[in-house]
Amino acid sequence: MLAGRKYRLRLTPEQARMAEEFGSICRSVWNTGLEQRREYRRRGAWMNYVPQAAELADAKREHEWLRAAPSHVLQQTLKDLDRACRTHGTFKVRWRSRARWNPSFRFPAGNLITVERLNRKLGRAKLPKLGWVAFRWSRHPGGEVRSATVSRRAGHWYISFLVEDGVLTPGHHAGTPVGVDRGVAVAATTSTGNVHDREFTTGGERIRYRHLQQRLARTHKGSANRRKTLASMKRNMGRVTDRRADFHAQLANQLTTRHNVVVLEDLRTKNMTASAKGTKAEPGRNVRQKAGLNRAILDKGWHRMERAIRNAARSTGTEMVLVNPAYTSQTCNRCGHVDPKNRKSQAVFECTACGHRDHADVNAAKNILSAAGHAVPACGDLAVGRSMKQEPPGPREAVPVQLASQLVGIPRR
Ligand SMILES: [Zn+2]
Repeated sequence: MLAGRKYRLRLTPEQARMAEEFGSICRSVWNTGLEQRREYRRRGAWMNYVPQAAELADAKREHEWLRAAPSHVLQQTLKDLDRACRTHGTFKVRWRSRARWNPSFRFPAGNLITVERLNRKLGRAKLPKLGWVAFRWSRHPGGEVRSATVSRRAGHWYISFLVEDGVLTPGHHAGTPVGVDRGVAVAATTSTGNVHDREFTTGGERIRYRHLQQRLARTHKGSANRRKTLASMKRNMGRVTDRRADFHAQLANQLTTRHNVVVLEDLRTKNMTASAKGTKAEPGRNVRQKAGLNRAILDKGWHRMERAIRNAARSTGTEMVLVNPAYTSQTCNRCGHVDPKNRKSQAVFECTACGHRDHADVNAAKNILSAAGHAVPACGDLAVGRSMKQEPPGPREAVPVQLASQLVGIPRR
């Protein structure tokens, strides 16, 4: 199967400058291509990849700055634009802004890319125009390289290889089905009673971020200070993103190795978080940055969790099922009675009809599992034969925030 392998690059200052330049050329090509497509759409016509690629070739003869980037990379940008427009619609595709877009460009021809290991820590890859680029050999690519993407995030450059690793998705999985409830207070709770969560930010980072926000508010638009402050904020947030990605990867690995079916709620994450950013109540400057912090603290990354599970499932043969999220938190899993009053608090569930008590998230996770047509195993019931170790945590209000780190992916069956 095709798999991505991402490494941290160690570019020389000259290579970093070139990479930056390739990135901005790709950005211009993307934006120009998008504007042209929109113009055509407004007139009721269509523009697509082939004529755009031909126009790009003409433009390269006229404009010298376009020639700095490899042709393949620019054509790939137009192909990506083509796919984005076909998938999302020409007017939904975003502009790539200098401030917000993280530079990224792809070398599509795997046969032109040589990858070799230099020593225990370093590897290197030969890319068109950029030459040999060194990267941290954090794992073996383990397959034939199909393409390479160079990108910058939070102040670091990365290279990501798309490799064909020759592994096939197993047809059979010996595990049992599991339902997973994704929440805001706790990232993930399974129908087997396991709670998975961790802190994504440290106290120091939150303080530092707040200071940076204040500093940002005092800077002028377009100033060097503003650029530096924004770069620090990005580095700060980058660490949070890394921790979250690590948590998701570990959770996905645990779920997919143990379970043949993982059932999740079909959450339209985009709609649910839309109100968090740029509300009318806070029209001041830097709303985006504030929203960024709130997101970083509250956001458990539901969509990314789903993606991580889907990705991990490919190598274990686990099936991922999405079910309608309606009433999963208000329904009693034992008798099926639906009542908002069933949920006594954030953590306690007590059925008003049959008196069944359970941890609210575990009850929801069981409902999610039932909604996919799988029976909740009897041992998952709180009342019967549970060891102390399997006891889900008590009311969440009683758990001090610092303790949240101890809840990290408790591996039990
Ligand atoms: Zn009930």
